[in-house]
Amino acid sequence: KRKVEIDPVALRNSILNKDITALSRAITMVESKNPKHLEQANTIIKGCLPHANKSIRIGITGVPGVGKSTFIETFGTYLTSLGKRVAVLAIDPTSSITKGSILGDKTRMEALVKDENAFIRPSASGDTLGGVARKTRETIILCEAAGFDVIIIETVGVGQSETTVHSMVDFFLLLKLAGAGDELQGIKRGIIEMADAIAINKADGDNLKNAKLAKVEFNRALHLYPEKESQWAPKVTLCSALNNEGIDAIWDIILEYIEITTKNNFLQKKRNEQNKFWLLQTIENQLKSDFFNSPNIKKELAEQLKLIENNQTTPFAAADFLLKIKSEKSL
Ligand code: GDP
Repeated sequence: KRKVEIDPVALRNSILNKDITALSRAITMVESKNPKHLEQANTIIKGCLPHANKSIRIGITGVPGVGKSTFIETFGTYLTSLGKRVAVLAIDPTSSITKGSILGDKTRMEALVKDENAFIRPSASGDTLGGVARKTRETIILCEAAGFDVIIIETVGVGQSETTVHSMVDFFLLLKLAGAGDELQGIKRGIIEMADAIAINKADGDNLKNAKLAKVEFNRALHLYPEKESQWAPKVTLCSALNNEGIDAIWDIILEYIEITTKNNFLQKKRNEQNKFWLLQTIENQLKSDFFNSPNIKKELAEQLKLIENNQTTPFAAADFLLKIKSEKSL
């Protein structure tokens, strides 16, 4: 096996110098299962932290086929034309099952891949959404240290993935298609509430009329929600990612949001709360995985399960027993 020595300080300095190869290497370390790599990754992230926190973080979600990759391609290219540097990350909750990423797929964003001011990284894989999310959070910090102005995080609405992305971005954009009326049907509860803007994509050709109707209906639905703490009233807008229409307007909406929430301090508060949430989330995940990965617990858990099956103990007594073994051992 070839050994590659990594100097975390040198790697961090390269990242700060916008060296994309160094950035990729650091992300690979964040995603590694090797404890040594993780330790080095932590050192790099710590060194990057003072240089992070400066980008606009945008979450984008929508059902498969709504046009997420087409949108990110067009939107990202528009941003780089404005002189912005754009990183595209993805959270794919299914990557642990499919063993490959369906999101942030480079072949789906051909122009952006070739754009030297864009960086595209497919979803990390992991056993749990929490694991994938942690890696993405850390990757955001690395990208910000590497001077990216805008970070886009794409996800498809599976399970909790939208909530997860929402908890790490400043602005959450929901892409929708116009249907034949009844726009609100089939939308997961809570998604509308999370959205800072709803963009009805494919508002072109024969679709335009329905898209305009959908806009009216979404606007009506949004008015039913109480005013947000951010004092931001979510916007509904039309776009055609394919024809590059309405894309600049979405960027303007995002800038307006940033301006308002910077002025009223909501943005900083939101980021602080997100950090708190992630601290607790990380502890919870770590405790859980330490617990379930302990060989002793694995053995005793199997035995307790048998006892439960035979009605010789209760789930609560068994849990109590197992938790005590663990805490006594760790003392
Ligand atoms: P994703 O699964 O959400 O990433 O969707 P894709 O970006 O792969 O788009 C799915 C299909 O919709 C592709 O065939 C795109 O060409 C098409 N599409 C995407 N955006 C638009 C649009 O604005 N207008 C039209 N007419 N088609 C679009």
